[in-house]
Amino acid sequence: DRLLEPRPKDEDLPLEAGLRPRTLEEYQGQSELKEKLRIFIQAALQRDEPLDHVLLHGHPGLGKTSLAGIISRELDVPFRATSGPVIERPGDLAAILTNLEPRSVLFIDEIHRLNHVVEEILYPAMEDFQLDIIIGQGPSARTIKLDLPPFTLVGATTRAGLLSPPLRDRFGVVLRLEFYRVDDLKQIVLRAARIMSLAIDDEGAEEIARRSRGTPRIANRLLRRVRDFAEVRAQGFITRDVADMALKMLDVDERGFDRMDRRILSTIIEKYDGGPVGIETLAAALSEEKDTLEEVYEPFLIQQGFLKKTPRGRVATRLAFEHLGLPYRPSRQL
Ligand code: ADP
Repeated sequence: DRLLEPRPKDEDLPLEAGLRPRTLEEYQGQSELKEKLRIFIQAALQRDEPLDHVLLHGHPGLGKTSLAGIISRELDVPFRATSGPVIERPGDLAAILTNLEPRSVLFIDEIHRLNHVVEEILYPAMEDFQLDIIIGQGPSARTIKLDLPPFTLVGATTRAGLLSPPLRDRFGVVLRLEFYRVDDLKQIVLRAARIMSLAIDDEGAEEIARRSRGTPRIANRLLRRVRDFAEVRAQGFITRDVADMALKMLDVDERGFDRMDRRILSTIIEKYDGGPVGIETLAAALSEEKDTLEEVYEPFLIQQGFLKKTPRGRVATRLAFEHLGLPYRPSRQL
């Protein structure tokens, strides 16, 4: 039960829908991505054609679902959402596709988790808006083709590398979401505070933003936790000091790291002389799953320059030594 978990937790759900930005204008940050998207949307509108299929990839909580909704709203078309693991059989997907209103945005979250039988149905649907269904079995089986209403598929994935090449190739637009800058997260916190009618000053918002791991979902979650603290200890007003005290108490340090992040860094430094250490060995030393390390913990540590991936394994950087208050010893093996 990790406070800094980037995937949605139950406690996020009641508020998340209300906090979702609804237009590109309201969608903070990701300026390059938004610029591209604006052009594609405008062009589709001008040609009066459905928008090309869009693949959104990026770490959890960076705003893929929000963006999919925004795309449908900007195009002024219906929105239908589902996810890879939910579509178990070809029939499930066929039912969804044949029931789409023309031009709809169909959002498939975790699209890398579609099974390949389902995935193969998707190819002709994406390419020609056609469905090939096999009826019957054995020698009497035959294929029938059904025309589908034109639609725009918006796929989201946390790991573009896991997408099969034929699926990936069928997306005309591929957009990558980056970790957010503190400035953008600060605006996200201020906006959420307005929606939730919270009293917060600029510095309070900035403190929460700095400790949110570049991730809007985490920023919103930390804001809620700091609110609880502020209500009990500070008459409900969130300042820098209040945010700092609350987040310290919650074991979120000034860089947005928690105990596990620090354990990862200190293990590399203390047990493996700063690295390089292979991910398997590191996972065993930490009693943590390799995938969890790679998907949940490492991306932010790497992006912030505390950890480096090398061909021979993970290496702790100077920043990591400094953060833990240890004298820097450059890795000898590099
Ligand atoms: P993902 O689908 O990538 O996991 P979501 O779209 O569900 O992420 O975003 C999680 C939460 O973060 C949303 O409820 C929303 O409040 C907030 N959020 C995400 N991106 C933005 C953004 N660019 N501007 C403002 N809020 C955002």
